[in-house]
Amino acid sequence: MTKTATITRTKAVKRAQTRTRGKMSRIISHDIAVDLGTANTLVAIDGRGVVINEPSVVATNKKTNQVIAIGNEAKQMVGRTPKSILAIQPLVDGVVSDYEVTEYMLRSFIDRLHRVHRVLLQRPRMIVGLPCGVTEVEKRAVEEAAKSSGARKVYLIEEPIAAAIGCGVDIMSERGSMIVDIGGGTTEIAIISNGVAVLTKSVRIAGDEMNDALRQHVREEYGLQIGERTAEDIKTTIGIVGGDNKSRSMSVRGRNVITGLPQEIEITSDMVRVTVAKQLRPIIDAIKGVLDETPPELISDIMQQGIHLAGGGSLIVGIDRLLRSETHIDVNMPKNALTAVVEGASIALANPSLYRQSLIYTE
Ligand code: ADP
Ligand code: MG
Repeated sequence: MTKTATITRTKAVKRAQTRTRGKMSRIISHDIAVDLGTANTLVAIDGRGVVINEPSVVATNKKTNQVIAIGNEAKQMVGRTPKSILAIQPLVDGVVSDYEVTEYMLRSFIDRLHRVHRVLLQRPRMIVGLPCGVTEVEKRAVEEAAKSSGARKVYLIEEPIAAAIGCGVDIMSERGSMIVDIGGGTTEIAIISNGVAVLTKSVRIAGDEMNDALRQHVREEYGLQIGERTAEDIKTTIGIVGGDNKSRSMSVRGRNVITGLPQEIEITSDMVRVTVAKQLRPIIDAIKGVLDETPPELISDIMQQGIHLAGGGSLIVGIDRLLRSETHIDVNMPKNALTAVVEGASIALANPSLYRQSLIYTE
């Protein structure tokens, strides 16, 4: 090949690369935040906000072990698919239970940023939320999953701290704040002061148990077997706890357990109220328990500021009123219940010197 030909080719390649990059790289980001939740995985990019928000579900073929779908698409398959397809939730109670599937899922979501969202991530720094009190092994699993999805440097942050930052709480103040994050699998309660969680409690009851309880109730009361997603639909559409809220109803389809035939019934929010309230009992007791252990000075701050709620489970209508009547403390409902953790984590990574005490540095 002649020299001119080489140069021409090099120029052409460069031009093509520039063109591709122009299309692809709307943002070259160095910072991304991840909330690996039991129910949902979220990814936020510094300066762009939440770009991925999908169920933490991976569907695989049982025989070949091949991944068929992830996220929304995989969740759609739950309860609908043939027996040969397995829907895996790789996180249980907020911690990695299936490492390989978690890693695959995270890597797929990050790849999607490149392809669908046209974001070019060049070995980004990544911050990932973790429940309080996880073991070193569990921490390492998250760190490794983050690294193998392309992160150059990985930071960790305790989820209640991230949630509080995301809810706009001034966590660096010496004044005490209380945050209650009701997720899918667990509820995390924390008292925060000076940027650290001084008291934490985790309860293994949250949104998913409300769904299970609704399924059981509909089966026992009406002899109707309903799916997991139908139960979630009931909860999010007409779900209510506490008194004074208008009753609503919706029709629900399932299978009659005796005849085996399809059946449609009308469910009212009064029925949901009782069932869901029962699931909230251990959560309320845990909140009271934490308040009982909190030093008086911090209690006084919390009484002034109110309890901050976060997590998808806190979206159940009437929960604020119920908690207020149980604890005699005001309750702040977040505007961003489902995104508070990832948004807070993103803010913490963007301001490392301010949130120094809250960030957990890894090697
Ligand atoms: P995780 O952090 O464990 O992934 P999320 O904070 O994403 O959990 O919350 C998921 C839970 O929130 C699920 O149990 C879901 O059913 C519940 N949820 C979502 N939206 C609502 C709603 N509008 N009302 C009641 N519960 C809801
Ligand atoms: Mg969460």
